[in-house]
Amino acid sequence: MQIKRLRLSGFKSFVDPADLRIEPGLTGVVGPNGCGKSNLLEALRWTMGENSAKSMRGAGMEDVIFAGTATRPPRDFAEVSLLAEVNGEETEVVRRIERGAGSAYRIDGKDVRAKDVSLLFADAATGAHSPALVSQGRISAVIAAKPADRRAMLEEAAGIAGLHVRRRDAEQK
Ligand code: ATP
Ligand code: MG
Repeated sequence: MQIKRLRLSGFKSFVDPADLRIEPGLTGVVGPNGCGKSNLLEALRWTMGENSAKSMRGAGMEDVIFAGTATRPPRDFAEVSLLAEVNGEETEVVRRIERGAGSAYRIDGKDVRAKDVSLLFADAATGAHSPALVSQGRISAVIAAKPADRRAMLEEAAGIAGLHVRRRDAEQK
């Protein structure tokens, strides 16, 4: 799967519609602190179905909606569209959240369930929880972790965390 375009409106600091074309190869996003680099990656994860407000750095999911500034009023919805190419075919995924109304998803203009969006990305071996998406602070968290905690992270990444649960269970018997 290749992500070709991200279009944001009312999402966090991107109050005005912003269109981002993502060309093949490596893409770098540069800019001063607070200009919205992390918000862009969060918009990508959010559209792929992220359900944790905390991992969007908010208290509730509506915190992704532009909250207003001294000169601009808050918005009442946020919408992000992601254009992806899968096996040579383009697919557009849209997630929208409205204050008091929650999230709604569309795939190629059709209303779908959150689950359908998760399945679409899971089939392409990616998604909101893909290990390819590393949030700011995660690298230093790994470096600063106590050895036992770091080992737990590595075991989780290697997919063997469950084996220890079963071993402890067996030892107690
Ligand atoms: P750094 O280089 O420090 O990591 P960054 O480019 O990653 O910075 P972000 O964390 O993406 O910056 O953007 C932070 C900005 O987004 C802050 O100015 C914050 O006020 C703004 N912001 C976050 N949520 C909202 C919201 N709901 N409404 C308006 N602005 C928001
Ligand atoms: Mg950042």
